[in-house]
Amino acid sequence: MLLSYSSSNGFYGLGFGGLGMLYDPTMILVLIGLVISLIASARVKSTFAKYDKVRSMSGLTGAQAAERILHGAGIYDVGIRRVQGNLTDHYDPRSKTLNLSDSTYMSTSVAAIGVAAHECGHAIQHQEQYKPLILRSTLVPAANLGSTLFWPIFLAGLIFSMGPLMTAGIVLFTLAVIFQLVTLPVEFNASSRAVKILGSSHICGDQEVAGVKQVLSAAALTYVASLASSILQLLRLIILSGGRNRD
Ligand SMILES: [Zn+2]
Repeated sequence: MLLSYSSSNGFYGLGFGGLGMLYDPTMILVLIGLVISLIASARVKSTFAKYDKVRSMSGLTGAQAAERILHGAGIYDVGIRRVQGNLTDHYDPRSKTLNLSDSTYMSTSVAAIGVAAHECGHAIQHQEQYKPLILRSTLVPAANLGSTLFWPIFLAGLIFSMGPLMTAGIVLFTLAVIFQLVTLPVEFNASSRAVKILGSSHICGDQEVAGVKQVLSAAALTYVASLASSILQLLRLIILSGGRNRD
């Protein structure tokens, strides 16, 4: 994926869901996390918009560049599909499809080619059985379970002053944090592959590669921001449970 889901939706995993918000001094940690995520998200959108105005000299669309990169890597069994939305680009390892958004698929901009190349980076990781990608896929069910259940369980523990329930909520949320941690090398690696391939295959000139680097670095920062806000949330849960256990 290009963007961290939680940064495009700042409320995910921050504890706003479930049984409602909880106002207390540690709420500031959640708000700091929200601000970090919003800044990262705004930054990637503005960087993308900047390089979306720069036409690539090759004249290739995102989809054409993706096809060329995949074939160059000896990959012929990955379909390239167009999906709706803005910056919704992703590679789906289950269906072996490269899903490019409206803003990438038909566009000949430097930004579009950069995003397409990043998704190709994931397809190549899959083909090479890149270990962090495999580990990340393995962790998906646990991470989904953790991010869905941590808040109701933790909150129930807090309301009824049941320590073990609060601990269970913290453990569940830690699963989601570990998932985000493993996501970082996967995303950074896909981007570095993209930059290397675009340069060496001459799909992009040197200046264009510099633009791609900026777009992909901004996108990578959304994952760092998500992780940071989740760690702040984890800290909040630990502080809340410690305070309640002393009561
Ligand atoms: Zn990605």
